[in-house]
Amino acid sequence: MNKRAKKRIYLDYTSSTPVDPKVSLSMKKIEKLCIGNPNALHEEGRNAKKVYENARKSLANNLGAKSDEIIFTSGATESNNLAILGLYESLKDEYKKKGKTPHIISSSIEHKSVLEVLKHLESKGVKVTYIDPEKDGTLPYKIIRKSLTSETMLVTIMHANNEIGTINDIEEIAREVRHARRKLGMAIPGTPYFHTDAAQSVTYVPIDMEKVGVDLLTLHSPKIYGPAGIGLLYKRRGVNISPIIFGGGQEEGLRSGRELPILAHGFAESFTIAKKEMNKEVVRLTKLRDYFFKEITKMIPNAKINGALISRLPNNVNVCIPDIDAEFAVIGLDENGVACSSASTCMNTSEESYSYVLERIYGDRSCAASSLRFSLGRYTTKSEIDDCLKILKKVLLLQWNK
Ligand code: PMP
Repeated sequence: MNKRAKKRIYLDYTSSTPVDPKVSLSMKKIEKLCIGNPNALHEEGRNAKKVYENARKSLANNLGAKSDEIIFTSGATESNNLAILGLYESLKDEYKKKGKTPHIISSSIEHKSVLEVLKHLESKGVKVTYIDPEKDGTLPYKIIRKSLTSETMLVTIMHANNEIGTINDIEEIAREVRHARRKLGMAIPGTPYFHTDAAQSVTYVPIDMEKVGVDLLTLHSPKIYGPAGIGLLYKRRGVNISPIIFGGGQEEGLRSGRELPILAHGFAESFTIAKKEMNKEVVRLTKLRDYFFKEITKMIPNAKINGALISRLPNNVNVCIPDIDAEFAVIGLDENGVACSSASTCMNTSEESYSYVLERIYGDRSCAASSLRFSLGRYTTKSEIDDCLKILKKVLLLQWNK
């Protein structure tokens, strides 16, 4: 690492976490066992397959799931697509036969990898109900019960929001879904199903699939200090989905494509470490986050914290600083050694890089265009926060004095 890189303050763990050195080392060690294609019949293939299946077993154990409920994917976008599109593809003919219209309930502040799939399905005639957040970013769960109908195929609500860090009560949502399944005389037996995107929450909120009552769940390795290029979809036994990628029939035909044992191994290792460190990290990061909030509101009295203060990820700091241009601030901070974000990083590829999540919450774009997200992580220290605040002051003064 060069001198300049050493001095940087990385506060964008929500976008991507660095790979834990223990994970890198473990991946390096396993490399020699992963020469072959896990589907090959020779010893090299069998060794690689063993590594791959051990990783699946470890991830399943850590989730309270069974190995055959884990489908490896390339990441959270693919897992979300597979869950929603895969379910639709498997059920669409049944709806058609019965003259019914599939209905999905979601929220307007989901990640784009859910919202864009829903938009695509709407163009095919699927009905979608989007629940809007309250002013503090939480979702009014009561509306879910009111929106459920006998034609509801799926409820897809994320576990924790990637921009404002609010944590949804997925057990309560799962209860509502089960209640509908029993009471509403569903058009298609087994529906509605519940999918949640837990890409951001799994490092900080314990999830036990045996207890939580979720049917489909998305996880992503590069959000939990594992390697990029791999994620998973948990699919409860008995839930049928169709593939959306076709080829050699890997993952029980649900996700064709070369299996990636080294990445799967790293993903599994990172989950084991994250689970072990969870309690300690939640306490440590909550303290750091609240210190950040206290200091930033002391420094800028009209700064407003976006999102709820309770039921919030311990690493999420998202603040609206009136009269600043967030994008310029992010560039200024970067020039001065701080990495943070002004909206979901995925929005940087679109023309409108403001936060649609904050726009939904406040009803206009002013706060969305002047909000900064700092996301803390395993290697964040208090002195980094202090340095970041000093740099932020300098960057903002430059903007205000222009
Ligand atoms: N869901 C959530 C909650 C996310 O935070 C992200 C990444 N920001 C994704 C899905 C998509 O991840 P990727 O594009 O890396 O697959």
